[in-house]
Amino acid sequence: MRDVKILLTEKELPTHWYNIQADMPNLPDPPLNPVTKQIIGPDDLKPIFPMGLIMQEVSQERWIEIPDEVRDILRIWRPSPLYRARRLEKALDTPARIYYKYEGVSPAGSHKLNTAVPQAYYNKVEGVKRLATETGAGQWGIALSQACNFFGIECTVYMVKVSFNQKPYRRSLMEIFGSNVIPSPSNLTESGRKILEEHPDSPGSLGVAISEAVEDAAKREDTNYALGSVLNHVCLHQSVIGLEAKEQMAKAGHYPDVVIGCCGGGSNFAGIAFPFAHDKITKGQKVRLVAVEPISCPTLTRGLYHYDYGDVVGLAPIVMMYTLGAAFMPPGIHAGGLRYHGDSPLLSRLVKDGLVEATALGQTSVFQGAIQFAKSEGLIPAPESAHAVQAAIQEAIDAREAGEARTILFNMSGHGLLDLPSYDLYMAGKLEDYPLPEEDLKNALERLPKV
Ligand SMILES: *Cc1c(COP(=O)(O)O)cnc(C)c1O
Repeated sequence: MRDVKILLTEKELPTHWYNIQADMPNLPDPPLNPVTKQIIGPDDLKPIFPMGLIMQEVSQERWIEIPDEVRDILRIWRPSPLYRARRLEKALDTPARIYYKYEGVSPAGSHKLNTAVPQAYYNKVEGVKRLATETGAGQWGIALSQACNFFGIECTVYMVKVSFNQKPYRRSLMEIFGSNVIPSPSNLTESGRKILEEHPDSPGSLGVAISEAVEDAAKREDTNYALGSVLNHVCLHQSVIGLEAKEQMAKAGHYPDVVIGCCGGGSNFAGIAFPFAHDKITKGQKVRLVAVEPISCPTLTRGLYHYDYGDVVGLAPIVMMYTLGAAFMPPGIHAGGLRYHGDSPLLSRLVKDGLVEATALGQTSVFQGAIQFAKSEGLIPAPESAHAVQAAIQEAIDAREAGEARTILFNMSGHGLLDLPSYDLYMAGKLEDYPLPEEDLKNALERLPKV
C-alpha cells in the first residue's frame, strides 16, 4: 500500500502560530472578574500569568512567531506524522479516505506538550521560578513537568485525588521530571480545606484542582499558574497540529471534507481544526469541523452558552462559554481528559455561530471503535482520542452508505499505553454508558453567576 505515512522535514516545522481571533466573525464576550463581575484587562491576569502569554491571550494578530528556543524543543517530535488509515478503510469497506494526525509521538504521549513548552518558556524569560497547575488524568501534569524540567523551573501539580490513586504511573512520570504531585482536594490551600470540610471523602474534580492551583499561584510572588486547555493562548499553541496537517494533506493531494477532534476543553480540536476554519471563514472552503465529546459530559451538545466560573471555588475569571455549570461533578468515565464542565470560549463562540458542529458518544462505542482502530492500525488510542476515532469510523460508514469518496481527517491526540486498565474493563464487559440525567444538568446550571 502506498502513501500510508506523510511526513514533513524538520525545516517544514511551522515558524508561526495561527490565531483564529484575527478571523472570527464574532469574538467571545470579554472575561469578567469573579468577584466584581467587571471586565478584566491584561493587568488583572498579571498575578498568575506572564505578560508574554497574556498578550497572546488578547491578541488579534493572525500570525504569531514561535520563539527559536521553543521550536528547538518542538523539533524533538515535530513535525508529527500524518497517516492514511488504509487498513481501517479496508476493514470498513468504505470508499472514504481516512487520515489521522498522530500526536502520541510527543515525549509526553499527547498533544499537551505543544503548549506546555511555550508556557514554560514565557514564564522562564520573565523570571518566574515555579509553576502551579492541576491535572485530571495526568496528561497535562506530565507535559508541564517535562517542559518545566527543560527550562529549569519548579513545578507543583494538584492532581484530582481519584486519578492520583487510580493512575500511579502518571504520577511516577511527573515525579521523574522533578515535579511535586499533590492529591486534590488537599489541606495545603484554603480552597482545598473548604471542600474537605464539606466533603471529607471528595474524590476531587478538575474544577477543584484548578481552584487550588490558582490560589497557590496568586499567593506566591515566585509562582505563576499554567492551564493545559480552554484558554486562547493554549488553542494558539496547538495550531501547529493543523498547520502541519494542512501541508501534509496538500502533499497527499486531498483536502478534507470533514475534520474531527475530541473535545475536553477544546485545545486539541482547536489545534487540528482552526487552521481549516481559516479557509472556511476567509475563503468559503467547504469543510465540516466536528468536535466530539462524551455523553456523560456533554458541554457543547447539551450545555448552555452563558457566562460561568472556570473553577469550583470561583477564583478564576468568569468566561462566556458552553457550560454544564461549575458545580457539575462528572461521572468517573475513562476519558478523564474530557471531564471539564466548560469549553474554550473561542470554540464555544464558533459552535454558537454554526462554524463548528458538536456530537457526543457513549464510552462503550468509543472503546469498541478504539479496538477496531488498534487492530487495523496497530496503535492504541488514548480513551479521549478514541472519541475522535469512533466519530471518524461513523463518518466512514456514512460515506459507504451514501456511496461517497469523502475525505476524513481526525486528530489522534495521544496514545493509550497508560490507559490499559480502562481497556481491560471494557474487554471484561464492565464499562457502562452514563448519559447525563436531565435532573443533574438542571441542578448544576442553577448555580451560574448572575451577570
Ligand atoms: C487532555 C487530553 C484531551 C482533552 O483536552 P483538549 O483540551 O480538549 O484537547 C484529549 N486527548 C488527550 C490525549 C488528552 O491528554
